[in-house]
Amino acid sequence: MDTLTFNRDFFKRSITNMAELIEKERNYLTKLDSDIGDGDHGINLSIGFREVSNKLSEFDESAADIASLMKKVGMALLGKVGGASGPLYGSFFMKMGANVAGKDEVTFDEFVGMIENGVDAVQSRGKAEVGDKTMLDAFKPGIDFLKEEDYTGKEIEAFGQFIEKMKEGAESTVSLVAKKGRALRLGERSVGHKDPGSESSWMLMNAFYEEMSK
Ligand SMILES: [Mg+2]
Repeated sequence: MDTLTFNRDFFKRSITNMAELIEKERNYLTKLDSDIGDGDHGINLSIGFREVSNKLSEFDESAADIASLMKKVGMALLGKVGGASGPLYGSFFMKMGANVAGKDEVTFDEFVGMIENGVDAVQSRGKAEVGDKTMLDAFKPGIDFLKEEDYTGKEIEAFGQFIEKMKEGAESTVSLVAKKGRALRLGERSVGHKDPGSESSWMLMNAFYEEMSK
């Protein structure tokens, strides 16, 4: 049986699809953020992923590994995206590459490890916990599921379940009181609205899922 692996092109295609997705969902994400934040989440991500697209087209295929690619994505987001989500997503993508330096392809286990590193980076940078109504409410239940799941032989299916857990986590933020970010000042009034970062988190990870399901 062939081992499932993901090469540099897989990451490049997924990230290209993320940029397209953000353009498509820009107004929706901005609407979510205008309910409880400052209404710029979709706009910020769109500015960031346009920069990512520019960098990707300059990217030298022959010289770089997956870690360099992810670093480039993270740096572009870090440099261009305003608000809280820029540093968080920037750290996420930069840390995704931390343990795969020099690799042109990774196994599913390694890919899960990359996401785990990214989530750890979001947690340490944002200092949020599950229940604070942030992107961590989507990421954490998702990655915890993958870490505990024995997915050998059904990796892609397990990744689909990871996305479902993330989606459920994003949905769970509707009933939460915000403890971080701009929504914090709203207190109880933040209840009834979904956290925009939790929504964009699962949508971005879903781009990996769609690419691996092809
Ligand atoms: Mg905002």
